[in-house]
Amino acid sequence: MRIDIITLFPEMCEAVMCESIIGRARTKGLIEVYCHQLRDFAFDKHKRVDDTTYGGGMGMLMKAEPIALCFENIMEHIGEKPHFIYMSPKGKVLTQQKLGELSQYKNITILCGHYEGVDQRVLDEYVDEEISIGDYVLTGGELPALVLADSVSRLVPGVLSDDLCFSDESHFSGLLEYPQYTKPAEWRGKTVPDVLLSGHHANIEKWRREKSVEETFLRRPDMLENAELTEKEKQYLKAFFDNIKRPLDS
Ligand code: SAM
Repeated sequence: MRIDIITLFPEMCEAVMCESIIGRARTKGLIEVYCHQLRDFAFDKHKRVDDTTYGGGMGMLMKAEPIALCFENIMEHIGEKPHFIYMSPKGKVLTQQKLGELSQYKNITILCGHYEGVDQRVLDEYVDEEISIGDYVLTGGELPALVLADSVSRLVPGVLSDDLCFSDESHFSGLLEYPQYTKPAEWRGKTVPDVLLSGHHANIEKWRREKSVEETFLRRPDMLENAELTEKEKQYLKAFFDNIKRPLDS
């Protein structure tokens, strides 16, 4: 997968995207990341990328032309139109499901907004979708772009040591992950659940699935509406619910 990031702060994006798992994936050639300085596509003498908004109002807006020129330059290099995403608080909130869809693209370009945002005309002309990382507003699109670039990169085959690393995690299956423990088996008087030390894989799987269902029920009951639960798991959940409800009722 190739990811191009259009930004006023390419060093900030590069600094994050060259570290750890993503950095190693780039070295191995599993993903390519290019961070483009938008100012390089502003051809007036002050290299201006922003201007005041028509109709008045506070703040500046990013101009259409430098963004269009930068994106056209990327298209020329790639030889086709990449899937173009604008990071925006007005976009659809990013989910693991959306990341699964995005991981199928060979080429993704991400536009980071700044100031009050971006001239609507260039969004209408080129952008395929707007994505938000949550219902709050940041000063710029760099952190959201990095969240997207990181989370989609780890779905590219080979980036993680084993596909289980992401398929066995919170949100992938529509449930939250079960609790996990590492050595030592006893820490400050707290022990690890016996089943995890038993070496009995079927029992461990069963325990993990039950804990996933419980964790989701306790922390994100909204997720259970779309989770695929067996009849037995629904009964288990009902019993678990009755059990925690009883002390409250009494
Ligand atoms: N005036 C815009 C609005 O009310 O929708 C907010 C602009 S914000 C200060 C500047 C830039 O930060 C945006 O253009 C966008 O790229 C980015 N941004 C801010 N919050 C974001 C979020 N929750 N998700 C994705 N991008 C965000």
